[in-house]
Amino acid sequence: MRFAIISDIHANQEALEAVAASIRVQAPDAVVCLGDIVGYGARPNECIDVVRTLTPHVLLGNHDEAAIDLGRAEYFNPYARIAAEWTHDELTEEHKTFIQALPYSLALGGILFVHSSPRDPAEWNYIITDADAQENFPAFTEPVCFVGHSHLPGIFSADLSEGPVRRGMQFIINVGSVGQPRDNDPRSSYGIFDTNHWEYRNIRVEYNIDAAAAKIRKAGLPKPLADRLFAGR
Ligand code: ZN
Repeated sequence: MRFAIISDIHANQEALEAVAASIRVQAPDAVVCLGDIVGYGARPNECIDVVRTLTPHVLLGNHDEAAIDLGRAEYFNPYARIAAEWTHDELTEEHKTFIQALPYSLALGGILFVHSSPRDPAEWNYIITDADAQENFPAFTEPVCFVGHSHLPGIFSADLSEGPVRRGMQFIINVGSVGQPRDNDPRSSYGIFDTNHWEYRNIRVEYNIDAAAAKIRKAGLPKPLADRLFAGR
């Protein structure tokens, strides 16, 4: 089975459409969205619609949650909180109902998918370091858990080894962010995982950053949310 895994779209329609075109070329058996469809960017409703055309397998992210329950945005930084409030006003009732029903985790084809961490999927903890990953390996039994949330693509192995994903070892794989990459590479990031050959690939896709940034400015959202897209951080 071949999966395409996308995460952290953040209402960036240009990035999502570029990734959707790339996924169509890849022609995977299933697509999984790890959440944070909305927040930061200027096209939340459009992005929910595009994701729903791509897949029925969609998880809840912390920015999705905050957009329908602003009390959950209290710990956000000021720009993220302003964006959550803007998104709350912008989302249609139908899309709020859609977000309301999203799960924190999903097991599909023997693989685990979460937005933040397998140990506490509803706590929004980050897996950034090897130490973070080590705390999470005992929390799941599947050979691979896919995560998003940090916007930093990367692979963690239970035995701290470098090198490609292989059978017989547990891995946590971060697929990076479609709509707001933070690893100093402004291109959209997503993952392809082939369970027949046990092969993982991180794919980067160029998109029209000018157009996405212009929409953020025009919507009156904080300008740094537009500027950071060009730097990819
Ligand atoms: Zn995010």
